[in-house]
Amino acid sequence: MTRPVTAAGATAVSAPVPVREDLGRLSGYHSPQVDVQVRLNTNESPLPPPPGWTEALQKAVAEIPFNRYPDRQANRLRAALADHHGVTVDEVFCANGSNEVLQCLLLAYGGPGRTSVAFEPTYALHSHIARLTGTGVVQGNRAADFTVDPRELRRVLGEAEATVTFFCSPNNPTGTLEPYANVEAALALSGGLVVVDEAYGPFSGRSAVALRDGPYGDRLVVVTSFSKTWSLAGLRLGYAIATPAVVEALESVALPYHVDAFTQEAGRVALGFAGEVQERVQSIVQDRERMQQRLARLPVDQWPSQANFVLFRPLHKDGHEVWQQLVERSVLVRDTSGWPGLEGCLRVTVGSPEENDRFVSALEEVLR
Ligand code: PMP
Repeated sequence: MTRPVTAAGATAVSAPVPVREDLGRLSGYHSPQVDVQVRLNTNESPLPPPPGWTEALQKAVAEIPFNRYPDRQANRLRAALADHHGVTVDEVFCANGSNEVLQCLLLAYGGPGRTSVAFEPTYALHSHIARLTGTGVVQGNRAADFTVDPRELRRVLGEAEATVTFFCSPNNPTGTLEPYANVEAALALSGGLVVVDEAYGPFSGRSAVALRDGPYGDRLVVVTSFSKTWSLAGLRLGYAIATPAVVEALESVALPYHVDAFTQEAGRVALGFAGEVQERVQSIVQDRERMQQRLARLPVDQWPSQANFVLFRPLHKDGHEVWQQLVERSVLVRDTSGWPGLEGCLRVTVGSPEENDRFVSALEEVLR
């Protein structure tokens, strides 16, 4: 691009265009990537997707007319997901990762003059995307066991007039399950949407989808992801299950063709491997239990996890220092030690058995 030249011959350079003022106050959500051998910081699956999926996908991809825009409604994928969950096609909304589902929810139901509620510590993007979309954020606090105390729920929802209330179950980064009584109470207390983020849901064997049949179930939105249990973080596919009216609202704020033809096919084909994926989920859960048994023998506090990660706190050593010393041993975990309500805590993803061994041995050494 050529720059305009002034009469004097010097290139005219204007002042940088200021970005939105409120963005300056929002730092992005990043897990620092460090060059290490053992990466246990972003809750991915240690296993690649089933080999049969790759083969079936190759065949499906050969049939995609790539010169054409994809099906804007992602109908085949949505039909397969509807089948998988026992709901109807018009109750499924797909997006480019479940983060995009959250963004669409806040674009449609948040925005200036509206309020969202999240109970901290929880998945940071619930509040972060709310702020990006100009939605007010009210943060309640979780109790010491990281569930939401019903009194705190009543206090916060009584004051907030929230149009969107977030729960995360199992909760990232604590791994704990949200009692469904809280979800039901939130539906009764607020007139807004209640979102249950189940990105890690299948590791717990439980889903809030069943609550849609209960009182105010028409305001419940369950969000989940292909990134964790389906071993498909690289694909970028997430979805919501909600009433047709909510799905329609989400469609109206999503960009046209936001789920490309490849992703639609890849997700649809993956659903044919649900049995194999479930076996992998079971084996990760067993590895998590083994990891927790080993952590129990070390000087750390830990919380019961229903996900593919464990939150722990070294008892006699500074959390950030432990993180650093693990990095020096080529093991990367998530440093949550500076997050409000998580002072001194670290979060480790359950990796392959070899990676878990490397992590526990390194931690033993660091804490010795
Ligand atoms: N929700 C929760 C609770 C998460 O931990 C994550 C991933 N870190 C997401 C949603 C987003 O997942 P994705 O966009 O990869 O589907």
